[in-house]
Amino acid sequence: MIKEWLVGVGLAVLIFLGILGLNVLPIFFLVAVSVALWYVMDRRSAAPTAVREASVRPRVSFDEIGGQEHAKRELMEALDFLKYRDKIKTLGIRPLKGILLTGPPGTGKTLMAKAAATYTDSIFLSASGSEFVEMYVGVGAQRVRDLFRRARTQAKKENKDSAIIFIDEIDVLGARRGQHSHQEYDQTLNQLLTEMDGMSTTQSPLVLVMAATNRPDMLDSALLRPGRFDRQIKVDLPDKEGRLHILQIQTKDKPLADDVNLEHIAKETYGFSGAQLESLVNEAAIIALRQEKTQITQEMFRDAVDKVLMGEKTGRKPTDEELHRVAVHEIGHAIVSELMRPGTVSHITIAPRGNALGFVRQIPENDRYLYTLEQLQQQINVALAGCLAEELHYGNRSTGAQNDFMQASSLARTMVKCGLSRIGIVDEENLPDTVLDTEVRYILGQQEQATRALLQPFKQHIAEFAQSVVAEESVSGDAFRAWLQQVQQSARVDWAVPLPAGFHEANGTAVPSA
Ligand code: ADP
Ligand code: MG
Ligand code: ZN
Repeated sequence: MIKEWLVGVGLAVLIFLGILGLNVLPIFFLVAVSVALWYVMDRRSAAPTAVREASVRPRVSFDEIGGQEHAKRELMEALDFLKYRDKIKTLGIRPLKGILLTGPPGTGKTLMAKAAATYTDSIFLSASGSEFVEMYVGVGAQRVRDLFRRARTQAKKENKDSAIIFIDEIDVLGARRGQHSHQEYDQTLNQLLTEMDGMSTTQSPLVLVMAATNRPDMLDSALLRPGRFDRQIKVDLPDKEGRLHILQIQTKDKPLADDVNLEHIAKETYGFSGAQLESLVNEAAIIALRQEKTQITQEMFRDAVDKVLMGEKTGRKPTDEELHRVAVHEIGHAIVSELMRPGTVSHITIAPRGNALGFVRQIPENDRYLYTLEQLQQQINVALAGCLAEELHYGNRSTGAQNDFMQASSLARTMVKCGLSRIGIVDEENLPDTVLDTEVRYILGQQEQATRALLQPFKQHIAEFAQSVVAEESVSGDAFRAWLQQVQQSARVDWAVPLPAGFHEANGTAVPSA
């Protein structure tokens, strides 16, 4: 308050002097320099307490964490060391000092740490790795010291005999030492190691350090030594059951319409993290609010999935010509997707969202961990089908397929690295870039031909359906399938489409004959 007031008055005086004709520039500089200095000193002295600590007693229980059954069980087992300390003591077991949670963002690592504090009735303090990294050497280390001291005093104050310190993004401060341009990170990491080593496991309150990272491979090996973070728990993206469980938790207190089928949503949201599912439910509720409805319907969830996947609808207004081209492109994807796996098109939409002008949403078959050569080829076919439909209809291509090509190339690279290409088994580490590149191009070229052959019979019919997609903006998978079937009957398109020379059909896809 006083600061702002002083600055205001100072400026006014300077301007006044300037008007009087005085040369105010030197004075101005002097003032500017002293203010800058003051600011720096201020920050520096405030720094040690600047680590934001989350609320001391989070009320999250393991029941509120969906999926992650394995991680939860492992974590609870580890926590029993804290919970049943007396038993541990009589057996002379060395209690755990650190637990590292690893996994992609938004999978519930922070939730797990909070639930751990509830489960063990501990004080909970949290900080993020990036908060320890300051411009000034020594500040990070000081913050670490401070955090541990606080954990102990806080626990004593509240009569708890344990405290959990949670460090998010530990890779920021715990990356391999000597990798950074200055020693700040090293000092901070060293301080953390010192604190953990100094933690006596018989003292009260007992401190347990939990940390989370997306990149365990980046961590300094000193952190992973026994007596430090010697327990690692993987917190992965949820599978379908997990997603369903998370959706059930997140919709518990929301008014759902009768048509809502959470199982179906769980199936459609392959690859979503818990945080994305939470955001999905929230978006669906916002849609209901905007439409002034009191219940959330299945369709609102569908729109919300689009939004979470593709981003908010943008204000971009493509021309009619562009819209038609986008529709043709998306129909290309949709045709091949249906030919490969009937029933998988959820809907075709042309509404600018995020970076895309349109998209086809596919219903993932089932969660998959392994792919066969044919499945990878099919995915490449679907990815290439957009631009090839444009080519078929317009006789030229556009820039709209950049993402599709990236996806197709990445699938082709996977094929080569997994020994599924014509060069057979490869040593990924010693695979020359040029060889990889040649093989990727070869695969893409082959699949381009195959995809073109799959689309060819639909050449005369795409334009007509594109009109209705443009008119309606979004067409359901069922409406699309009805059209596809009708075209197939009228044009006598055989599912087994004529394939180019050198290809044969296998499991509904065109496979190059050896
Ligand atoms: P992380 O720490 O792994 O990045 P968070 O624990 O911060 O993820 O999760 C962010 C939010 O996402 C949570 O507050 C919660 O709403 C939701 N969420 C994430 N994972 C789950 C889960 N397994 N069950 C229920 N909600 C989850
Ligand atoms: Mg988090
Ligand atoms: Zn595309």
